This record gives sequence, C-alpha cells and structure tokens, in this order.
Amino acid sequence: MFNQHNDIVEKESSLLKNYSRYPVEFVSGDGAYLFDKNGKKYLDFLSGIAVTGFGHSNPRIKSAVEKQINKLWHVSNLFESEQQEILAEKLAEISGLDSVFFCNSGTEANEAAIKFARKWGKGRSHIITALNSFHGRTMGSLSATGQKKVWEGFEPLTPGFSYAEFGDIDVLEQEYNKHANETVAIMLEPIQGESGIIIPPEGYLKNVRQFCDEHNLLLILDEVQSGMGRTGKFFAHQWEEIKPDIITIAKGIANGLPLGAAICSKEVGDEIKPGSHGSTFGGNPVAVAAAIEVVNLLDDSVLNQIDKLGTSLIESIINLHAIQIKEVRGKGLMIGVEFNEGISAKVIAQKLLSDGVVTGTSGEVVLRLLPPFIITEKEIVQFGAALSGVLNEL
Ligand code: PLP
Repeated sequence: MFNQHNDIVEKESSLLKNYSRYPVEFVSGDGAYLFDKNGKKYLDFLSGIAVTGFGHSNPRIKSAVEKQINKLWHVSNLFESEQQEILAEKLAEISGLDSVFFCNSGTEANEAAIKFARKWGKGRSHIITALNSFHGRTMGSLSATGQKKVWEGFEPLTPGFSYAEFGDIDVLEQEYNKHANETVAIMLEPIQGESGIIIPPEGYLKNVRQFCDEHNLLLILDEVQSGMGRTGKFFAHQWEEIKPDIITIAKGIANGLPLGAAICSKEVGDEIKPGSHGSTFGGNPVAVAAAIEVVNLLDDSVLNQIDKLGTSLIESIINLHAIQIKEVRGKGLMIGVEFNEGISAKVIAQKLLSDGVVTGTSGEVVLRLLPPFIITEKEIVQFGAALSGVLNEL
C-alpha cells in the first residue's frame, strides 16, 4: 500500500486488536502437526485450546463432514433434525441427563445454563460461582466469571452472581448463607482451565453435590474445556462419580467446527417451553455430523489412552528436573506446568513456538498443554526435548 507521497507503508490491519497474536500463520494441519505458510512444521500441543482433540484432518471426521456438506449445510431449528436427535441421545446417555440444547460456543452454552437455572428457580436467581473461574465473554457468562480483569470496562455486570474460593466447601457455604433465599445454583468448572489448570481437592465436587441436594440448588458444571474426553473421562466430573443438573460443553465437541451444548435434567428441561430460548445456527448439521463422529471415536480405549498419555507426559516433564519448574499438574491431557515466580510462561511459549512447538499459557506463570489425543510417546519425547532446550537457554 502507498501513502500520498508514493512511499510503501505497512497496511494497518482491519482486524480488531482484541487478541495478542503470535506472528505465525498456520495454513494446514495433519494429525498432531501444523504447517505455517513457509512450510515449517510444528508439533501442536494446544489443539486450538482444547478443540481439535482428534487432530487436524482426522479422516473419519473429515468424511462425516464432507458427506453432510454434500447433502445440506443449514436448516432452521423450526424443523426436525435426525442428526441433532442422534447426538442429543448420545450426550444424554453418557451424562445420565435428559435434554440437550445446541448452540455454537462455550459462552452461549453457559448463557443457556444460566437462563435454564433461573427459569427452574421460579424467582430464585442468584448463582454462586468460583473465584478465578472462566465462563465466557458474553454479559451473563462474563458476570459468572470470577475474575475482575475479565469484567473491567464492561460494568455494570449482570446482577445475580457472587463468587467463592474454588475448592473450599466451607467458604462456599459462607457465601451461600449471605444469599440463601435467592440462590438457585452453584456453577463451577470441574478443573479451572483459564486460571492455571487448578484441580480442586479430592471429594470437593462430591461435597458440592451434597450441599446442592441439601439446599435444593442446581449444580451447573462448565465442562467447556475439561469435557469431551480431555481429562481421560468423557466429562471431568465423572472422576468423582457425581451427576450435575446441567452440563455445558463446546470446544472439543465437533473437533473444530463451532458447536456448544447445555445438557440438563428432566426437571430443568421441563421448564423450557417453545420460545424460551433458541439459536439460528445452534446444532448446525455439519457441526453436528462432526460431533457424532467425535462421540463415536471417544470410546473407553481412547479415554484410557488419554489418561495414560497424560501420566506419561507429566512424568516426562517432572523427569527433566528443571529448576525453573515449580509444579506439573493435570488430569489426562489437560496439563499445567507452573514455573517459579518471575519466569514468564508467555516467553517460554514464544520460544517453544520458534522451535516448532505450539503451546498455550494460563495466567503469568503457567504453560498450558492441551495436546491432541492422538499423540504417541514419540511426541511426548519430542516435547520434553524442546522444553528442556528452551529452559536451558534461559
Ligand atoms: N468455559 C470455559 C471453562 C472455557 O475455558 C471457555 C473458553 O476458554 C469458555 C467457557 C468460553 O468458551 P467460548 O470461547 O467457546 O465462548
């Protein structure tokens, strides 16, 4: 582009600057690998932030998408959909719940959950969520999010939310006591993803379930990041053998196509009547075709493999004995590597990227690893060598 003096000037991007983007552009993907526009190959240990669990260009998912795209791309939710019925039935069966609403993203799934809880509450509308939680960017989900930095500049928040420290049932009870008459639900991530892969103490979710039962509250679990096999169970809360009243999912459900869902119990679902809620694109046939294949692929042997691979990846990082690492934690392939204070996870992610490994961060000091489920020991070794190389250079 030229200015009025005919000098060449860099064109200002027309994209909104709401992301801080790495200066790399991926143009293709194959399994656990991505390729940039210069042909450089990268090991993908981020999976589009817990989205492409079965890797890039998975042949089975690709074939299901191609088949559907050749038949029908969109139909309004004013009409019946066999594919939505099939997927809903599978999700209901796996969750032990009854009714499924389809939308397009995690934040929308949480908006639906909040609305469903309020409707069921018949006047009770307060929802207690966790400090440092993350539920999305639209006004309801943003208000449910227990992080000031996510709200700043966007107040006033949607009323009806308060926050309690994650992992402490006594603190949750104290918060409940402040709003006892108006509280309708507790809403939590089984593992907090955006704030550093925080796993609550064993038994916490069970205690929260019991607390909800005792006080006639709904338990809403946001499995947008932790669900769809990521932790080695279909849903992360299944590690504690509990059943929530509403589960929200998105990210990994359609291996990269936009789809979200709120899955709820019969009692909650029965309150939602035609006209109460909806979405033009929600449950799009192409995304649903991909999701049916994802659910078919996520069998017990894959889930066990995710669990095993996660243990192996954690062990391999611990075995680096790097003095910069404070803790390695996670469940399945949802793993956080926490560095000592003063070491920037972002700098490490940048250096790994230069060395051909894609990772993410959560918070200042946690490197977030969300590799696809199809990695092998070879990729685990490759990652360990790359991380070790970067840490040695610090
Ligand atoms: N909930 C959780 C736990 C998440 O991790 C995210 C995204 O990171 C969301 C909700 C929001 O999902 P989306 O970006 O699809 O709206």
